[in-house]
Amino acid sequence: MKQPDCIFCNIDQDNFILKNDLAYIIKDKYPHSRGHLLIIPFEHEENYFELGKKTRDAMNDLLIIAKKDCDEKYQPSGYNVSVNIGRSAGQVVMHAHLHLIPRYSKSNDI
Ligand code: AMP
Ligand code: ZN
Repeated sequence: MKQPDCIFCNIDQDNFILKNDLAYIIKDKYPHSRGHLLIIPFEHEENYFELGKKTRDAMNDLLIIAKKDCDEKYQPSGYNVSVNIGRSAGQVVMHAHLHLIPRYSKSNDI
């Protein structure tokens, strides 16, 4: 259920890059690199591992599309795909999400 005090439950749809039935993509507000995206389920669940398979599959579908788009737009030389689970692992927004972080040679990382 949508949580009134959760940032990712309350992102304005105008900011969605893409969505499907269960998840959406936005640009990270403080990107680690050019093209850093977040893939976020509509469902408010803190822990990625507690999400259902359909939701994880829907997030993965968006991840694959986003990666292809990023290849075309920015031609990065690599990617990090990451998910932080728990504050001790660096999770700051307690609504599960995947990071897609393109990586470049040092000179044009951002
Ligand atoms: P994490 O440490 O995995 O919880 O990462 C949360 C991410 O959300 C960080 O990379 C933030 O830069 C990003 N973030 C926080 N607030 C917003 C927002 N309003 N819109 C987009 N990204 C955000
Ligand atoms: Zn939420």
